[in-house]
Amino acid sequence: MSVPILEVCDVHAAYGRIEVLRGVDLSVPKGAVLALLGPNGAGKSTLTRVISGQKKPTSGDVHLGGVDVRDVRPEELARVGLCTVPEGRSVFANLTVEENLLLMSYAGVPAPAVLDTAFSYFPRLHERRHQLAGTMSGGEQQMLAMSRALASDPALLILDELSMGLAPLIVDELYETVARIASSGVSILCIEQFARTALRVADYAAVMSGGRVVATGEPAEILRSMSDVILGGAA
Ligand code: ATP
Repeated sequence: MSVPILEVCDVHAAYGRIEVLRGVDLSVPKGAVLALLGPNGAGKSTLTRVISGQKKPTSGDVHLGGVDVRDVRPEELARVGLCTVPEGRSVFANLTVEENLLLMSYAGVPAPAVLDTAFSYFPRLHERRHQLAGTMSGGEQQMLAMSRALASDPALLILDELSMGLAPLIVDELYETVARIASSGVSILCIEQFARTALRVADYAAVMSGGRVVATGEPAEILRSMSDVILGGAA
């Protein structure tokens, strides 16, 4: 394994007095796709909030490319290479596809490059570039949310429940693109309910339960040893 792009060490976090992360350890190797699986309420989304600086841990460390994220303001995380596609997507419904993408060029990436990247991964966005984002299908909106994240040329992309509310065929299509993004050198942490789909493109998998990572390993091994936990809901 190479030097990790992301290292989470003994992270604890709570909402009020209820502790929901109870000593999370997780490492994402550079250039790898890691699928983070586990039942509802395991703490996966809370962990992504801690990693992306939206929630303060009560203790523990998060290092991104060797930088302690506590030293970085959340709005500056893109500059150190982190981009998150949060659960439920994040597009401006009343702006067109193109306007949504062009807004991302503020980060210093030239506008044509932002559009080129988006349209090469998702030709459908090119066809629909003048359409209001809010009128597109869920899958198309997810493509746009991913393209907006890619605009900042991230070192680590966090995808939280990419498949939420989408038909299996479109989920497969999105994950094929995840694999292409990864092969361009971007490290990816994907949180997913559809364990089998995520495991097809993942290099490694980690399983969370009860606020801890209870297993890590290669996809086949995790599917074999943890199927009762990870296939409990949607497979
Ligand atoms: P899911 O797959 O259902 O999104 P998850 O593994 O992402 O689950 P979290 O959303 O991190 O889990 O939730 C972990 C626990 O923290 C749950 O018990 C949840 O009810 C609780 N929780 C999450 N967000 C909040 C909040 N804003 N205030 C209070 N409790 C919260």
